[in-house]
Amino acid sequence: MSLSDDLYRETILDHYHHPRNQGVIEHPTVKVEGVNPLCGDEVTLYINVNNKTIDDVKIHGKGCSINTASGSIMSDLIKGKSVEEASKTIELFKSMMLTKGVEVEIPEELEDLECLQGVKKYPVRIKCALLPWNTLAEGLKTAETKAGQFVHFETNGDHELGRVVVNGG
Ligand code: ZN
Repeated sequence: MSLSDDLYRETILDHYHHPRNQGVIEHPTVKVEGVNPLCGDEVTLYINVNNKTIDDVKIHGKGCSINTASGSIMSDLIKGKSVEEASKTIELFKSMMLTKGVEVEIPEELEDLECLQGVKKYPVRIKCALLPWNTLAEGLKTAETKAGQFVHFETNGDHELGRVVVNGG
């Protein structure tokens, strides 16, 4: 095991044991809940969007170590960012996780993403790492069009969005 593998593992464990931005927001712009039935991961994101900027994000859920760490790292990286920047980071992370054989270049300010690159060795766990990000993508899409909504979705076997349900209130 190389030094960077060790560092990456430490970062993941740190985020797993001390997840950032945990909790709920009382009246969020959008509340979105994602489920990964294969692992049993559940994540609920509360997102506040103001002037196309993610003012605040809180995570509530239960999941495996990879899912929890990925959500924590994500919340750190997207809080205070514009929706556009956050969307780019989502795309970058997804291409890093889903591209086979090619190293995806990660800018320095997003280097925490690289910790999760080792998860690619375990294809079943890729979905665990992607769940918070797919959930965020769904939330941001909804925040633009239907603020004040609740969204629920489940992932299917191809890392794509499965069922999406939008309820009022
Ligand atoms: Zn999982």
